[in-house]
Amino acid sequence: MESFGHVIDGEEVPSLDGATFESIDPWERAPWATVALGSAADAHRAVDAARRAFDEGPWSRLGHVERGRILHRLADLIEERGAELALADTTDMGKPIAETRGHDVPRSAQNFRFFADHARLTPAEVFPMPTGHHAYTQYDPAGVVAAIAPWNFPLMMETWKVAPALAWGNTVVLKPAEQSPASATILARLALEAGVPPGVLNVVHGYGPRSVGEALTASPLVDRITFTGESGTGRAISRAAAQNLTPVSLELGGKGANIVFADADLAQAVDWSIKAIYTNSGQVCLAGSRLYVQESILDEFLARFTAAAAALRAGDPKHPDTQIGPLSSREHFDKVVGYLDIAEQEGGQLLTSGAPDGWSVPPTVVVGAPQRARVTQEEIFGPVVVVLPFTDEKEAVDLANDTPYGLNAMMFTRDLARAHRVSRALRVGTVWTNCFFVRDLRAPFGGAKNSGVGREGGSYSREFFTEPKAVVMEI
Ligand code: NAD
Repeated sequence: MESFGHVIDGEEVPSLDGATFESIDPWERAPWATVALGSAADAHRAVDAARRAFDEGPWSRLGHVERGRILHRLADLIEERGAELALADTTDMGKPIAETRGHDVPRSAQNFRFFADHARLTPAEVFPMPTGHHAYTQYDPAGVVAAIAPWNFPLMMETWKVAPALAWGNTVVLKPAEQSPASATILARLALEAGVPPGVLNVVHGYGPRSVGEALTASPLVDRITFTGESGTGRAISRAAAQNLTPVSLELGGKGANIVFADADLAQAVDWSIKAIYTNSGQVCLAGSRLYVQESILDEFLARFTAAAAALRAGDPKHPDTQIGPLSSREHFDKVVGYLDIAEQEGGQLLTSGAPDGWSVPPTVVVGAPQRARVTQEEIFGPVVVVLPFTDEKEAVDLANDTPYGLNAMMFTRDLARAHRVSRALRVGTVWTNCFFVRDLRAPFGGAKNSGVGREGGSYSREFFTEPKAVVMEI
């Protein structure tokens, strides 16, 4: 069994009360690691360390060049130790190793490189005033950042938060999801090796409610909370943060609409639509889980789509050829399988090759479920897509917007004017046309409606992780 502790003030430590929990490998359905189980006391210990490091340590006072050099060194180490980091995430939560190794780890290194460079290169505003006064903006680090992460892209989501927070001079307490603790401890070990001073990046493990997570969000010593996870958890965190008026950035759930117009390049639309719902077994906030297909091409699209879904290679996520692994946990498997029953009760028909096995669910297509069905409205977070027809552009937009969520949408069309029109009409944070999951880290990322509060990415991350100060002088 592997062992992962908290990392507090530069030391890997057990919990104050010695408590531990086991991380379960969802493919083997057996424990593979023992992890320190934190309590509120451990959260406070980590926040105190981060506070001290911020108030007294060198990090917040270093220049962008020096901080950037250390963060680039950390990115180098992430790349060098990529195999270990990828295996940690794959073993913790079952994502195929081809994805953790080929996508998540390189993106994690890139997060550090991008935000190090962004902080170094971004200019601040100067406002020469006609009155003779001179005003400019100074971006001071915000202080102690609590970063609370989900299990579906463990290292990638954690670095998406930690990298900009560190690049702008903050100190951090990171709480990974209890289902995927390993890579966060490895990241903190590597940060120390790269030269990030003790107390600047702390990691505490454990649960959310009435535990480590809640203690972080209620702490008056925390200056920013960045959270990614379920919309319901986002509400709980907002309530806790309100006590101290702590600013929150919330990246929450989704039920992405994927609109395929009759003029689309069908092969391209099928290819991206498959990736949009079955990548990471559908455990993706951005998943295209509502697939709206124009009536005239529905039969042909469905024939091609179900054939492509059936051809995906399911199996052991540690095998390099596997495309679909198990769901992340027993609890999550039960939830997803529960939705298959609900789909049938709601009049849906399941077009599936294979049956659930172990904690794996085969790629599933639901047809015939109505727009207001629970399976069409609620986030299933599994390899389950609901397919519905539409007749014209207006109906497609109305159906796509008819959801409590607003994270993202996709559309497939060769009509450029329509692509712009529909992009404007969709109430979401990101629209992808003829593609999916393509990111420019300078662009805003976040959700409308129940999918989030605020945006991160590029200068949006700067806004959140700094205290922009107006300095005005009479000269
Ligand atoms: P979750 O909300 O159950 O847990 C996320 C994290 O919050 C975990 O670390 C958990 O321990 C912690 N937590 C839970 N309750 C808490 C509380 N009361 N106080 C403080 N911390 C608490 O989410 P999950 O199941 O880990 O992740 C899946 C969800 O995340 C899905 O809804 C998915 O759409 C969403 N997600 C969103 C994005 C995005 O960018 N918008 C990205 C990835 C995942």
